[in-house]
Amino acid sequence: MRILIVGGGIAGLSAALALSKLGSEVHLVEVQPRLQAIGTGLTMSLLTCRALRDLGVGDEVAAQGFRHNGWDVHDRHGNHIESVLSAPSDSGELLEGAILRPVLHAILADRVRATDVRLELGASVSGLSSTATGCTVTFSNGRQGTYDMVVAADGAYSSMRRLIMPEFAATPYSGQVCWRALFDRPAHVVRGMMFQSDHAKMGLNPCSSDKMYMFFNEAVAEPQRHSRSHLANRLREILGEFEKALAGLIPAIDEHVEINYRPLDACLVRGAYHRGRVILIGDAAHGPTPHLGAGAGLAVEDALVLAREVDASAGCVSRAFASFMKIRSPRVEYVVETSLKLGRMEMAGEPVSQRTEIMAQARERMKESYS
Ligand SMILES: Cc1cc2nc3c(=O)[nH]c(=O)nc-3n(C[C@H](O)[C@H](O)[C@H](O)COP(=O)(O)OP(=O)(O)OC[C@H]3O[C@@H](n4cnc5c(N)ncnc54)[C@H](O)[C@@H]3O)c2cc1C
Repeated sequence: MRILIVGGGIAGLSAALALSKLGSEVHLVEVQPRLQAIGTGLTMSLLTCRALRDLGVGDEVAAQGFRHNGWDVHDRHGNHIESVLSAPSDSGELLEGAILRPVLHAILADRVRATDVRLELGASVSGLSSTATGCTVTFSNGRQGTYDMVVAADGAYSSMRRLIMPEFAATPYSGQVCWRALFDRPAHVVRGMMFQSDHAKMGLNPCSSDKMYMFFNEAVAEPQRHSRSHLANRLREILGEFEKALAGLIPAIDEHVEINYRPLDACLVRGAYHRGRVILIGDAAHGPTPHLGAGAGLAVEDALVLAREVDASAGCVSRAFASFMKIRSPRVEYVVETSLKLGRMEMAGEPVSQRTEIMAQARERMKESYS
C-alpha cells in the first residue's frame, strides 16, 4: 500500500511509525525545513503515556521525560485540597508525567529516521484528486504522486482540511490564553501541582530530571501581542494572586525565562474525518484545549487505531476509515468537549470542588481502552 502522510508533528510521526510497521510504502512530507517542535513542556496524561508505550517509545519517553502518579491540588495560597492520583500499571510503571516538547519530537523523529519511511522536508501539498483507485497529489514543487491513502496530520490550522472540507468552520477563540514557562525543578516537585483560584488555574509539572514547566490559563476577552520583555512583566503581574504558593518563583521570571503565550481554541470536525482516500488525524481533526493534557495522546491513539484498521481491512481504505471513525468519534468528542467545559467553568468561577470532580471523572474515562 502507498501512503502519504502530510505533517511531521506528533500525529504524523506516530502514523509513520505505526503504518510503516505494516510493510506499507510510507512517504511523509513536512512543510518546515526541519523536523522540530518549539515549546516548553507537554503534560502526559494516562492516555498519552499509554499510547506512547503502545507505539513503542515508552521507555525513551520515561527516561528523557518525567513520570509521576498524578496531581496534588491546592488553593491559590498553596494549601493542599486533595490529590488526584493514579495507580501504577501492573508492571509498576508510573502512568502520568510530562516531557519537553522538543525532546518528545526528537524521540519520534529519530525512530522514524530509522525506518524505511521516505521523509521529505520543506514540502507541502497544493492539490488533490481522489478516484476509486487512488489519490493523485500535487506537491508544492509541482511534482505529482499517486497514493492508496493520504493521512493529513498538519495540525489545528490544517490546509489539507481546507482542501477536503472547505465548508469546515473553525471553533471560535475559547476566551482563555495559555501561558507556559520553563524553570529548574526544585527537588520537592515530584508530581504535578495544581493551584486553583476562583477564576484561574496554575500548575507546575516536572518534565525532566532537572526541569519543570509552569502553565497558567488566563481569561482574556481579546488575546494581546506582547513583546518578549513585556511577556515576563505581564506573567509576573498575573501570577500575583498565587504569590504565596509560588514562593521564590515569581521574582525569577525575567526575559531569560522561556515563556510561551498562546490563545486557546479548540478544533473538532463533527462527523467523518475523511473524504475519498484522505483522512484527517490529530489536531487537524480534533485539537482540544490543554485542560486534560490529552491532545498529544489522542493524536498518537489515532495513529495506532488507523494502522490497526488499515491492517484489518486488507487494503480496503473506505472500510478502514469507517471502522476508525466508529472507534474514535465518541472518545475524541468527549475529551474535546470536557476540556472546553473545564475552561468555561474556570472562567465562570465555578467552585474548585466541581472543577476537580469533572477532572477526576475525565481521568477515569480516559483510562478506558482506546481501541
Ligand atoms: C498552548 C497549548 C498547550 C498544549 N499543551 C498540551 C499538553 O500539555 N499535553 C497534550 O497532550 N497536549 C497539549 N496540547 C495539544 C498538543 O500540542 C496537540 O494536540 C499536538 O501537538 C497535536 O499534534 P499534531 O501532530 O496533530 O499537530 P502539530 O503538532 O500542530 O503538528 C503539525 C505538523 O504539520 C506541519 N504542517 C503544517 N502544515 C503543513 C502542510 N501544509 N504541509 C506539510 N506539513 C505541514 C507542521 O509544521 C507540524 O510539524 C497543547 C496545545 C496548545 C495550543
